[in-house]
Amino acid sequence: MRITDIKGRWQLATGVEMPYLGLGVWQTKNGEEVVHAVKWAIELGYRHIDTAAIYQNEIGVGRGINESGVDRSDIFITSKVWNSDQGYDSTLKAFDSSLKKLGTDYLDLYLIHWPVAGKYRDTWKALEYLYKEKRVKAIGVSNFLKHHLEDLLSDVDIVPMVNQLEFHPYLLQQQLQDFCKSHQIQYEAWSPLMQGKAFDIEELQRIAQAYDKSVAQLLIRWNLQKGVITIPKSSNRDRIAQNADVFDFMISDEDMKRIDALDRNERVGPDPDNFDF
Ligand code: NDP
Repeated sequence: MRITDIKGRWQLATGVEMPYLGLGVWQTKNGEEVVHAVKWAIELGYRHIDTAAIYQNEIGVGRGINESGVDRSDIFITSKVWNSDQGYDSTLKAFDSSLKKLGTDYLDLYLIHWPVAGKYRDTWKALEYLYKEKRVKAIGVSNFLKHHLEDLLSDVDIVPMVNQLEFHPYLLQQQLQDFCKSHQIQYEAWSPLMQGKAFDIEELQRIAQAYDKSVAQLLIRWNLQKGVITIPKSSNRDRIAQNADVFDFMISDEDMKRIDALDRNERVGPDPDNFDF
């Protein structure tokens, strides 16, 4: 997969192009904080923002995009249907509410946020409807493990185009990656910096130093070289800039393997097989 610059995109199975580096905004406060973060990111060349209804900052994300001066059509916006809104009709309502808050008339990507048992199949039918009606350019899932995907795939018209999952050196889930690849489901990383915990890992510090890069930059580049779309979160201008400065170096195969070898099947977030929200 070609990695060029911050505006670079990869093609999803359907041909839609998705920027491989985006800005995550979980825990970025609605209002000035998220408006600034989004505007700074766009000014720095980011063209992809990852939000969700549950982050309660879609209004600010929409304002930031609107005030950025860049055309809506050049920005890739992802949002997600929250667990309590799952089901066919309630998902359609939730989608309309997200659009209204974001101040747009379509989404680039809409995801099922978590695989809520007994609900996600109906939710998926609603996403398929929205896709067929051309109200969203791509649809996908988040936090779906192999067995959730197998169950969903047994009854779909449209295969999810993306699966957004926790992904970092302590959690590779190689079999799940392989499964997604074999179905042309693009893997996307959440918490790529382990919510900050990655910065304390000595092996990562050593490798990053050798490239004269920060651990954050090393991990973002590692994601891209693995073909994984990534959405590091920051609400600080300098760190948003730093996280996009990953296109002037390449991690060697040997160092890629060293980073892979840190895998411990350890999470910083909830387990999709055992969540209660
Ligand atoms: P990340 O792994 O992106 O880490 C974010 C943390 O790292 C923040 O505390 C941020 O602080 C800090 N940080 C960012 N860049 C740097 C840097 N260069 N140097 C030092 N510190 C840095 O965590 P997230 O959990 O936020 O994951 C990213 C995104 O993934 C989310 O924002 C959200 O969009 C998505 N997500 C999706 C989930 C899902 O279930 N689908 C679950 C969780 C996240 P600061 O802001 O102060 O810079």
